[in-house]
Amino acid sequence: MSKTLRFKCPKCGTVQDVSGNGPCWKCHVMISLPEDGVIWIRRMDDLIFSGGRFRRLTEVYLNGIFLNWLSNNEFIRIPVPYGHYNVLLKHPDRPMANYTGVGLEFDITPNNRVVYLKTEDTVGGSGTVILKSATAEEMPPV
Ligand SMILES: [Zn+2]
Repeated sequence: MSKTLRFKCPKCGTVQDVSGNGPCWKCHVMISLPEDGVIWIRRMDDLIFSGGRFRRLTEVYLNGIFLNWLSNNEFIRIPVPYGHYNVLLKHPDRPMANYTGVGLEFDITPNNRVVYLKTEDTVGGSGTVILKSATAEEMPPV
């Protein structure tokens, strides 16, 4: 099973990719993943030119909480409880105060349990990452 479920340990705060419930690799507390909904994020093959060179990694933020990185052609799923969410991807060399990308905001509810997001495009040299709604068919198999 692929380790594409991204989760932040509530005890030690370590962000990790797991395949299901199990012990945190760092502090060994048992992690039980939320089961209400799932946010999928796929970064397309979009090497980004910023700050004079190509950047492989973008930072992932969920409701302002840093959840590590996504490289081009990579995807993650984030299991979440019902609630209101905003997601944005940002280049590591861009401070949040100068954020210029396009994030997305949505609710995870019993009628909207799965949200698919993809990076659409980037504006060369600006370090801008644009998130768009996607469909299940645009996600890789797990
Ligand atoms: Zn932990």
